[in-house]
Amino acid sequence: KDENTKYKERLYKANLEAARFFYKNLKASKVAVNYLLSRGIDYKIINRFGLGFSLNEWNSLLKYLKKLGFKDEEIISAGLVINSDKGIYDRFRNRIMFPIFDIKGRVIGFGGRVIDDSKPKYLNTSETLIFEKGKNLYGLNYVIKNKSANSIIIVEGYMDCIKLHQHGLENVVASLGTALTLEQAKLLKRYVNDIYICYDSDAAGQAATLRGLEILESVGLNVKVINIPQGKDPDEYVNNYGIEEFKKLIDEAIYITDYRILKAREGKNLKNQFDKIQYVNQVINILSKLKDDVLIHHYSEQLSNETGIALSVIIEKINKSRTLSI
Ligand code: ATP
Ligand code: MN
Ligand code: MN
Ligand code: MN
Repeated sequence: KDENTKYKERLYKANLEAARFFYKNLKASKVAVNYLLSRGIDYKIINRFGLGFSLNEWNSLLKYLKKLGFKDEEIISAGLVINSDKGIYDRFRNRIMFPIFDIKGRVIGFGGRVIDDSKPKYLNTSETLIFEKGKNLYGLNYVIKNKSANSIIIVEGYMDCIKLHQHGLENVVASLGTALTLEQAKLLKRYVNDIYICYDSDAAGQAATLRGLEILESVGLNVKVINIPQGKDPDEYVNNYGIEEFKKLIDEAIYITDYRILKAREGKNLKNQFDKIQYVNQVINILSKLKDDVLIHHYSEQLSNETGIALSVIIEKINKSRTLSI
């Protein structure tokens, strides 16, 4: 083995030992366990996902890993401590810890959530030799164990992902707090053809959905959007209405084109001619990117009925902009 491989193995090992340490801390902390229970997370899923707790101390993990024989330099490279002028100290303190696994089941990093209102709410391991955020998806290691999954649901947060797994939806991954990347899309394509995006219903989540759609589409995935009503995320939705109601949202998921049209329609009054013209042009723009003529006709007819603009005008304009873009 070359030096680089051996070095990476030390980093995997340090992260694994850190996960064990956090896990033991959680078991010993009533406050941390109660936090999770209060959020509807049960013991079984705590164990399954290896959740943990980082103590409210400056160097408990550092001391622990040094005792196990890790060098300062290795612990720094593993992203587990912060290296400052004043010395090194634990990166994660007083946080619920979510170990992040790669598809081979190795611990590559962590997400940590505060248990009070302090900021930042979440903290992730920084990029390291073994942790590249844009190349991994939280929960994918559990999803691929279950070979029968023929679709994958992407959510925003750790809690969303865990909560859905707890209720038996074992095909859920979270995108690690960054915008979805092309590499993540390709990774997903290795396992399934059908994807559901289920981001938060706030403005940030909706913007991320639109960006994510393009990327998932670009690698040839069939994408549908699950819409969560009333400014919620999947975790809150399940807490409030139960898993059966959430499953109904999955059944009602809409195709990307419908989603894009819905977003173009939002906030517009079609009785106002400026709004209407803007809407028609936006939808024409969406439709001119479609390849299937039957689909184009279907949506054009719908647009014509909705706005009173003649079908022939809509079709003509779509054809023009298709020719232009070839
Ligand atoms: P919770 O339900 O625990 O309050 P959430 O998952 O609903 O949290 P969001 O604010 O919706 O939190 O963020 C979604 C995800 O984005 C988080 O789970 C986390 O992975 C990531 N994230 C949020 N805030 C930060 C941050 N300050 N730094 C890094 N990642 C973050
Ligand atoms: Mn959010
Ligand atoms: Mn949430
Ligand atoms: Mn959220």
